[in-house]
Amino acid sequence: MPTSTPAGPPGAQPATAFTLACQHAARRLLPLADTRSFDDARRGHVADLPAGAITRANGGPVWSLAAYGFLADEEAPDSVHPGLWRHARVNMVTGLFQVVPRVWQVRGLDIANMTIIEGDTGLIVIDPLISTEVAAAGMALYFQHRPKKPVLAMVYSHSHVDHFGGVRGVIDEADVRAGRVQVIAPAGFMEEAVSENLLAGNAMARRALFQFGPLLPKGVRGQVDAGLGKTTSTGTVTLIAPTVVINQPVERHLIDGIECIFELTPGAEAPAEMIIHHPGLRVLNMTEISSQNFHNLLPLRGAQVRDALAWSRYLDGALQRYGAASDVLIAQHHWPVWGGSAIDGFLRRQRDLYRYVHDQTLRLMNHGLLAAEIAETLQLPQALQDDWACHGFYGTVKHNVKAVVQRYLGAYDGNPAHLDPLPPADAARKTLQYMGGADTVLQHAQADFDAGEYRWVAQVCAVVAHAGRPGDDSVQRAQALGADALEQLGYQAESATWRNAYLQAVMELRHGVPQLPPTSVAVRDIVRALPLGLFFDTLAMRLDGAKADGLHLRINWRITGTGGDVDADAEAGNCALLNLEHGALTHRLGVQAADADASVAMDRDTLDAIALQTLPLADALQTGRVQVQGRVQALVQLMSMLDTFNRMFPVVGPRP
Ligand SMILES: [Zn+2]
Repeated sequence: MPTSTPAGPPGAQPATAFTLACQHAARRLLPLADTRSFDDARRGHVADLPAGAITRANGGPVWSLAAYGFLADEEAPDSVHPGLWRHARVNMVTGLFQVVPRVWQVRGLDIANMTIIEGDTGLIVIDPLISTEVAAAGMALYFQHRPKKPVLAMVYSHSHVDHFGGVRGVIDEADVRAGRVQVIAPAGFMEEAVSENLLAGNAMARRALFQFGPLLPKGVRGQVDAGLGKTTSTGTVTLIAPTVVINQPVERHLIDGIECIFELTPGAEAPAEMIIHHPGLRVLNMTEISSQNFHNLLPLRGAQVRDALAWSRYLDGALQRYGAASDVLIAQHHWPVWGGSAIDGFLRRQRDLYRYVHDQTLRLMNHGLLAAEIAETLQLPQALQDDWACHGFYGTVKHNVKAVVQRYLGAYDGNPAHLDPLPPADAARKTLQYMGGADTVLQHAQADFDAGEYRWVAQVCAVVAHAGRPGDDSVQRAQALGADALEQLGYQAESATWRNAYLQAVMELRHGVPQLPPTSVAVRDIVRALPLGLFFDTLAMRLDGAKADGLHLRINWRITGTGGDVDADAEAGNCALLNLEHGALTHRLGVQAADADASVAMDRDTLDAIALQTLPLADALQTGRVQVQGRVQALVQLMSMLDTFNRMFPVVGPRP
C-alpha cells in the first residue's frame, strides 16, 4: 500500500484494520482491469484548465482543483474505497476537449460539463455550469483555441442549477432581448428552476452540505469527489428566462445549420429535462439521463422521489431512436462513450440498472419485505457489477431501493408499532434506561467498535447523544465514539455522497456545527422570476401558525405596473388578496376585497428587495416604497409573525 498522507479534517483518524479488510474485499470484486474510462475521458483532450484558482470579483473563492493533487497516486489509500478512488481519478481528467469536429466540451470547471457546438456562423452552448465566473472561464478557454464566434443559442438541458446558473457568464440578456441569442429549454423549465427546491430550501441547503461536502477539507481522509464531478462551484448564480420552450415530446430544430432533435424526459432525473440528438454530427447528448455512475432516485439532500420506471424507459427510447445513429454519446457530466457498440452496451446496461432496481424492489416489497431489508439483500446482476458506470459513486443501490419503496408506499412501513413512535429524544431516553444507562451502552459500543461493527456503533451512539443535552459527559463520549465509527463508514463507502455525508457528520460531532456567514442564499435572478403566487407561498411557509391563531387579517396586495391602473394590474395577475385565518395564510390571485384590513402597493423591485431580505419592511414603509391604505398595523403584524431560519441548524448530536 502507498503511504497515505493524513490530509483531511483536523483530528482525522487512520483507517482501522477492519476498514482495510473491507477495502481489500471490495478491490477483489471491482473490474479494475477495465481501464477504458481513463482512455475515454482523455480522448480529444486539447488543453488543460487554467492553472490558477477562479475567484469572484472581490477575490472570494469560486473554483480550484489544486487541492486534489493527492489523487495523482494510482493506488487507493486505506481511507478511500478503491472504486471511489478510481472514479475520483477519472474525474480529474479535465480541460477542453474536441469530441468530434464542431463539438467541444469543457470538463472539470464545475461539477457539470459545458458543451459547445460550432454552427455555420456562431455557437450553440449547452449548459453554462453553476456560476458565471467558471462559465466565463470555460468560454475563454475555448476561445483561446477556436475563432471567436458569437453565441447564437443557449440550451438549458434541465432545471437543476448546475445546468443554468452560469448563464450570464456566457451570454448577455440584452442580446437575448434583441433576438441575437435564443435561449432554449424543456417544457416546465422556468417554473421548476425557480420552484423545485424553494419551499424546502433551507432544510435542503443544509443537507446538501452533507451530500457534496463543500466544507470538508479535501484529502485522503476528507472530500475526494462528489460523484458527478469533483465538487460544486461557489460563484454568482444567474438565470435568463428561455425564449424557446420545447413543448412537444420530440421537436426537430435547425439551429445555425446544426440539426437538433430535442426529446423531453420529464420526471426522471429532473422535473423538466430533455436529451438531444444531432443526427448530422452523429452525436447523442444524454444530458443527465445517463451518466458514468448510478444516479440518485432520491438525493441525500432530500427531494421528491424520482420515477425509476420512466427513467429506464427514456434510456430505452434513446437507444431505440438514436443509438444506431450515433458515433459518440456525451452527457452534461462525466466523459463520453465512444463507438456504436459501446453506446449500445452502455445504454442497455443503464436502462436495465434502473429497471432492475425498480422491479426487484417492487417484487420483494410485494413479498412483504421492508425497505431496509430489501436494501440489505439486493445485489445487481454480475454484468451490471462489471460495468463501472453502474456503480453507485453518486446514488447507491441501497438508498435507491428505499426511494422506490418510498415512491410507492411512503415512509411508514405498515407496522402500527411504528405508526406513532416516540420522537428521537424521548425514545432515546427510554431505550437507555432499559439498556442500563449510558455508561453500560458506551462500554458495549466500544467493544463493538473494536470488533469493527461500525454501523451499529454509529446508530447506538446517536441514541446516547439524543438522550442527553449538549455538554453532558455521556453525550460527549457518545459523539466521540460515534464520530470514530462514522469516519470508518465514510472511508469504506464507494459512494462519494455517502462518504461526504459521513465525514461531514464526523466533523460536526468533533468540532461543532460550522458557522457560516449569514449571507442570503436567495438568488436575485430566481427571486425576480418568482411568480406572485409562489412568493406568497414562501411567506405562508414562514408563518408561525401558533402566533397567528385566532387572528383574521385580509390584505390586498398590488404590484404596481407602469400605468398605475388598478384594473390593468389585476388583469396582468399582479393583484392578490391575502387571507390569514385559522393560522393559515392563503391567497387568491387577481382578487381585491373592498373591505380588506389594508391595501398594500409596491413595485416589483421593492417586492424583490423584500424577498431577498436586502430591504427591511420598516424601511420600505418609511421611505414610501411600500404604500399602505387602511390599517398599516395589519401588514406589520403579519410580517412580524414570519420566521427566519437558521441556515446551520443541528443535524447530528443532541436534538434541540
Ligand atoms: Zn447536473
